[in-house]
Amino acid sequence: MNILLVGAGLSGAVIGRQLAEAGHDCRIIDSRPHIGGNCHTQRDPETGVMLHLYGPHIFHTDDEGVWAYVNRHADFVPFQNRVKTTSQGAVYSLPVNLHTINQFFGTTLRPDEARAFIESKADNSIADPETFEEQALRFVGPELYEAFFKGYTEKQWGCSPRELPASILKRLPVRFNYDDNYFFHRFQGMPRDGYTAMIEDILDHPRITVELETSYDPAMADDADHVFWSGPLDGFFGYSLGRLGYRTLDFERFTYQGDYQGCAVMNYGDRDVPWTRITEHKHFSPWESHEGSPCYREYSREAGPKDIPYYPIRLVEEKSLLTQYIDLARSQEKVTFVGRLGTYRYLDMDVTIREALDTAGVFLGAEKAGTAV
Ligand code: UDP
Repeated sequence: MNILLVGAGLSGAVIGRQLAEAGHDCRIIDSRPHIGGNCHTQRDPETGVMLHLYGPHIFHTDDEGVWAYVNRHADFVPFQNRVKTTSQGAVYSLPVNLHTINQFFGTTLRPDEARAFIESKADNSIADPETFEEQALRFVGPELYEAFFKGYTEKQWGCSPRELPASILKRLPVRFNYDDNYFFHRFQGMPRDGYTAMIEDILDHPRITVELETSYDPAMADDADHVFWSGPLDGFFGYSLGRLGYRTLDFERFTYQGDYQGCAVMNYGDRDVPWTRITEHKHFSPWESHEGSPCYREYSREAGPKDIPYYPIRLVEEKSLLTQYIDLARSQEKVTFVGRLGTYRYLDMDVTIREALDTAGVFLGAEKAGTAV
């Protein structure tokens, strides 16, 4: 079969590879001049530091199959993300853990005491939190919410945490011990030569062709037996029902000589600091040594029609438009919608790869191919 995959990010590459190995010819197009989508990495010509050009990406998973898959395509170096946050004139450890709690409240609580203390601050009248704010008030109480989540989230999402789903905050744990590993997964690491090299390896198959700086044209689908779409879900339909909301990011670079902040990611919880975080990329490759240190202040704003979409917003009230697009997508027999943008979900890399492997499996296994979203 002739398969067209729109988007050369993780979804397109993984599905393309699975289908190519099964004997299908895969044409992968991408409008950008590089593969890898927003996982794209590139060495900085000035300092030699490996940059995550679209913001920090740390690989973490509990999925043994996905971990084995990425290790077949890249050499992974163990890496644990330890994020700090600057708030109200002090630096704290994230995710909220026993150190954060004791430092913030000036206490010396032990785990059980801290749990009881935070529980005493929680709003127990919220039985089933639906919004980000309800989730925060229910699980960390008002003080920690104000210091670490409210301002950051307003900057990151451009709206009140009352309008955002609880699922966004559920990404972050609260720990009653001193574990400050940002992620809880068993397998965590960084590809030694960056994500783009890993995706290049996935794409390295004689039945795969990649065309960069190539925009999708509906006529291309005529030559294909099936299309996998990893562009924006609403974009496939020409935004005919209206636009789903996305956040985009702006990065402001400065180069420091030495070590600027002592960690890869420093968040800024205060509302009056305009950036959400500063990423110092050389800390993502601690096995390398560079004197120059590129740092990026990150600003979030609503994506306009020409901006790169990063985060699907999924406002609580936006669900009905999404449902309509999902219905449209389901009616497309020849097209499968995949990935973060194609399914309009906040997906981590490991989930994206798992879903891509499963989608390819369903496609290859099913007589009637092409189950949408
Ligand atoms: N968040 C926050 N304060 C922080 C870090 C995260 O309020 O210091 C909230 C924010 O709404 C963010 C969400 O938690 O969008 C998920 O955080 P995560 O670190 O997973 O975001 P990502 O790295 O994917 O941008």
